[in-house]
Amino acid sequence: MNRPIPGTVQVAVRHILSDKVTGGIIRPKTRTVTWQDSLYRVRRPKSGREIVELTCPVCDASLLAEVSTEARTRRTATLCLVLAAVCAVVLVAALGYAFHEGGRTLPEGQSLPVLFSVSVIAVFVMFVAGPMFYVVGRGYNGVSLLATWRERRLHQVRPVRGG
Ligand SMILES: [Zn+2]
Repeated sequence: MNRPIPGTVQVAVRHILSDKVTGGIIRPKTRTVTWQDSLYRVRRPKSGREIVELTCPVCDASLLAEVSTEARTRRTATLCLVLAAVCAVVLVAALGYAFHEGGRTLPEGQSLPVLFSVSVIAVFVMFVAGPMFYVVGRGYNGVSLLATWRERRLHQVRPVRGG
């Protein structure tokens, strides 16, 4: 059923039914999100990008999504995975340097070099950016919802495996 068809891409239009956060003070915080997915097959443009209109069957809302060509989609996904790999390398290098510098006993009155602070910041940034690039690169299908932040709380366009 989810057989890929050349020139098209399958996406799920997700209508968020409810998004509730409970607990937080005494009980641990839990977030419960319920949604309904509707599958759509979108035709990819021959070149450049194209805007397609999708209708949410749950609430009849019309949603605009931007579709990229297969080549551009593959390039973007590869770029994200390369950036994820770069982040991993920088993370290891910065971590190694931070441990090396931080573990030294400094002579009286001498402070750690500026590069030490830079490496600590780099560790944190790469720790967040690396997995993010990886997730985006793995799931990127070239279809992105054109919506404001407010609208995204109600609707999402998700990639479909093998679509
Ligand atoms: Zn809807």
